[in-house]
Amino acid sequence: MAMSRSRIYPLLAEEPLQARIRELGAEIARDYAGKDLVVIGLLNGVYMFFSDLTRSMDLDFEVTFMQVASYGAGTESTGEVKILHDLDRSIRGRHALVVEDIVDTGLTLSKVRKLLLDREPASLRIVSLLDKPSRRRVEVPVDYVGFTIEDHFVVGFGLDLDGKFRNLPYVGIYNPA
Ligand code: 5GP
Repeated sequence: MAMSRSRIYPLLAEEPLQARIRELGAEIARDYAGKDLVVIGLLNGVYMFFSDLTRSMDLDFEVTFMQVASYGAGTESTGEVKILHDLDRSIRGRHALVVEDIVDTGLTLSKVRKLLLDREPASLRIVSLLDKPSRRRVEVPVDYVGFTIEDHFVVGFGLDLDGKFRNLPYVGIYNPA
C-alpha cells in the first residue's frame, strides 16, 4: 500500500504546537539571559521546530547545525552514529543548547551528547519537541520537553516516513494498517 496522508491521524494540531513552542522559547530565553549561547539543531527532522523555537527566543545567540546518521532498519535505532555534517562553530567554553525533534530510545542523543561534551562547552542542555519515555533504552537528560507522547510512530512538523510528510504543520500518528 502506498504512503498516504489519509493514514495519518492528527495528534498535535498546529495551534497547541505553536503555543507550547512559544512557552519553551520564553523559558529558554529567561534561562540563558546574559549568556554566550550556541543553539545546535540536529538535522533533518528538527528544521521546522528549530525555526519556530529560535524565532520565539527573545535573546541574542548563534545558530548552527549538525547532521548525524543513526543506523538501523526502518523505525528502529541501533545507536551507531556517524557525523554527516559537523558544527561550523566552536562550543568550547560556551553554553550549548541542542535542539532535537524527538527522543525515542535515546541512543542517538546520548552519542551526540558525549561527542559534544568532549568539546568542553561551559554547559550543555537539550530541548526536544517530543519525548517518548516508554521507549528509552539509555538515560539521557532532556532539559526541556515540548510534549510527552505514547509509543506511536509520528510524522509531520519535520518528522518523516521515508522522507515524506515533513512539511505537515501538525504532528500525526501514521497508521500503516
Ligand atoms: P533514538 O536514537 O532516540 O531512538 O531516535 C531518535 C531519532 O529517531 C529521531 O531524531 C528521529 O529521527 C527518529 N524517530 C524516533 N521516533 C520517531 C517517530 O515516531 N517518528 C519519526 N518520523 N522519527 C522518529
